[in-house]
Amino acid sequence: MTRAAPSFGVMPFTAPESYFGAVKDAGEPDAESLCFVFQRTSLLIARSAPGASLPGHGDLALLGGKPLRRLYLGTLGGRACYAFEYGADTELPQDMVWQGLRALYGKLDESLFALAGRALQFVDWDRTHQFCGSCGTPTRHREHERARECPACALIAYPRIAPAVMCLVRRAREILLARSPQFAPGLYSVLAGFVEPGESLEQCLAREVLEETGLRIANPRYFASQPWPFPHSLMIAFVADYAGGEITPAPDEIQDAQWFSLDALPKLPNRISIARRLIDGVMAEMLASQG
Ligand SMILES: [Zn+2]
Repeated sequence: MTRAAPSFGVMPFTAPESYFGAVKDAGEPDAESLCFVFQRTSLLIARSAPGASLPGHGDLALLGGKPLRRLYLGTLGGRACYAFEYGADTELPQDMVWQGLRALYGKLDESLFALAGRALQFVDWDRTHQFCGSCGTPTRHREHERARECPACALIAYPRIAPAVMCLVRRAREILLARSPQFAPGLYSVLAGFVEPGESLEQCLAREVLEETGLRIANPRYFASQPWPFPHSLMIAFVADYAGGEITPAPDEIQDAQWFSLDALPKLPNRISIARRLIDGVMAEMLASQG
């Protein structure tokens, strides 16, 4: 393992149905536009009781300094959406504040929150692909797709997504759960890990479960997926059957792994996480098949 297991997402970042992504904008933002303004991973928020709201485009004129970048995102409910990035030295008016995106869950409108996760990934990608990774020449936007292109050697860079898999292993009436040293005390969850180059999702599942617990699995079934913008993951969740082996937790990575029966489960992840949805879904399936 060269990379730590991905964290278990607790926030839905799936773009709403009324969102239509686009690259080529129709012009300057106006009073109707939605502006997602970032300073690194923090979003600019207009303080408004009791929740939080995005600043209007007119409010951006009140910020000290000019944006480092502006990206068109498409439309949400017919309103044009833009992502901006400002520098750390930007002076804010009193009624505006930078807030970490995670802390805004439940405060910001759900569809805006979901789109902010996408905006954050585009801004992060744009910032880190200003120069060609092959020859070092400054890159430029491609007009008709979300990509940056090198004018010297024609290398094209697209936004990155790092796929990760999650696997709930079943054995008769039990499920396999594990805890890593960073988890809250008593909390157990589903095994997860990043997909490596050259690996299918099924191979990744088998490798992660074997590496982390020493168990072999069979018959993996897709359950659901969830985008996760910290910084650019896509979690793909599966259920699989136990096929052999004794639990041997990987040192450093897994503090403990156990088979749990449905009536004696430990503390589980938050209900809106994909890990918890996977556990709940499999439990419902097992209870239904109990007869
Ligand atoms: Zn180049």
